[in-house]
Amino acid sequence: MIAKELQGRYQVTILEAGGKFRPFSMPIGKLAALHRTGLFFDERMICLLLPNMLVEKTEDMVMVRGIGVGGTTTLATGNAVRCDGAVRALGIDLDEQCAELSRELPITTDHQQHWTETTWTMFRLFEQMGLDPVGTPKLMRAAKCVECGHCAIGCPTGAKWDTRALIKEAVQKGAVLIIDCRVTGLDIENGQVKAVHARRHGKRETYQADLVVLAAGGLGTPVIPQHSGVPCSDTLFADPVLYVAGPMENYGQDHQLLMPFISQQDGYILSPYMDYLSFFFHRSWRLPMRNIASIMIKLADEEAGTTDGKHINKTMSPADQRRMDRAVAQSQEILERLGVRERDQFLGTLNAGHPGGMLPLTEGEKENLHSSVLPENLYVADATILPRSMGNPPMLTIMALAKKNRRPSVKREQHPSFSSIRLG
Ligand SMILES: Cc1cc2nc3c(=O)[nH]c(=O)nc-3n(C[C@H](O)[C@H](O)[C@H](O)COP(=O)(O)OP(=O)(O)OC[C@H]3O[C@@H](n4cnc5c(N)ncnc54)[C@H](O)[C@@H]3O)c2cc1C
Repeated sequence: MIAKELQGRYQVTILEAGGKFRPFSMPIGKLAALHRTGLFFDERMICLLLPNMLVEKTEDMVMVRGIGVGGTTTLATGNAVRCDGAVRALGIDLDEQCAELSRELPITTDHQQHWTETTWTMFRLFEQMGLDPVGTPKLMRAAKCVECGHCAIGCPTGAKWDTRALIKEAVQKGAVLIIDCRVTGLDIENGQVKAVHARRHGKRETYQADLVVLAAGGLGTPVIPQHSGVPCSDTLFADPVLYVAGPMENYGQDHQLLMPFISQQDGYILSPYMDYLSFFFHRSWRLPMRNIASIMIKLADEEAGTTDGKHINKTMSPADQRRMDRAVAQSQEILERLGVRERDQFLGTLNAGHPGGMLPLTEGEKENLHSSVLPENLYVADATILPRSMGNPPMLTIMALAKKNRRPSVKREQHPSFSSIRLG
């Protein structure tokens, strides 16, 4: 988003670690048969099926992110939920930016017209239980959706929107996109970034820059200043996710939009979701996908954790675990009311795909959205600056913050050439 916003005013160069997004293209039926043989035993093997999905493990959970053009949004389910309360609490008003996003992007709840009976049954059950389900605003062209359930592994019809569209726009406006180019560090002199170091096809490259904006994600961005002598804080959050599932003959949840509606609870959300990681890699998930009913719990976790690029240190705190236990009990009750006996129910893989928070914005930074620990001409425009876990889809908030940050306030006289912005 920030590349698109800045191109024109500046000459933008985007340094992207990955390549083009490649969707899951193998026949799921055959793979499902293989998975029952126990061939898939480690979640990190998912890259064999979905090359842009990077899975790393912490002590407690599996961390998921997208590496490649479009980043993790290529794996996202397209939820565009406004959840910027924590940002607003710092005095940062994103109303104008969210309104702009609504005008510019295909955000819709029209998909409700295409819901299957399975989706409606679950929705009505949530309503009966007083869980206040709300149709999820989605970044999609609903008319193109064929309810295949593949939102998170590569939408085959182009119904789902992701940030590849923004990269395309930025490039059409003149930005330069360099792929397979991993940013490794920064040259910092007298409180200014002078150059960006990267590795491309095994070779070291250096890019001179007047202004640098890091957007390498909640796990990618902090590593770059840290490797360059600028410490980040150990406040990593991740929004841990767990699935409560059970057998339902021919339920057909594998053929419905992922997360068609959301129920907001105290510190977590609940939503129907068929999870490919659990399906392929969790020992309890042995049934054909069409015979599984599954509810997703997404938790707002405590901001405690770090990454140094080699290891991710992120565990469930006792408070996180207590909240998760409450959410599991509630999900078990939903499934039981749906007709799945509690003793037949099983859990999925504890995973997390919303990492962020290692350079959390503070009230003092609300005007220029510039982290005070960073050099003057170094900005961040991704989940790293979110002040806390939201337990909710963060894309909209991240993009709104990037829009607000479109005119980084570096003093012009210090950067007379002002010619290029490099994005990690
Ligand atoms: C399965 C799944 C479903 C999701 N669904 C939703 C959803 O429906 N709605 C929602 O709001 N959120 C969703 N999310 C979360 C959302 O996708 C992320 O929170 C969001 O994309 C984070 O944006 P970001 O800019 O921080 O990082 P990313 O989107 O991860 O982008 C980081 C980019 O930087 C690149 N990169 C990384 N390291 C380097 C480096 N050293 N040098 C150069 N480039 C680098 C990466 O390749 C990538 O392109 C989902 C996440 C997952 C895993």
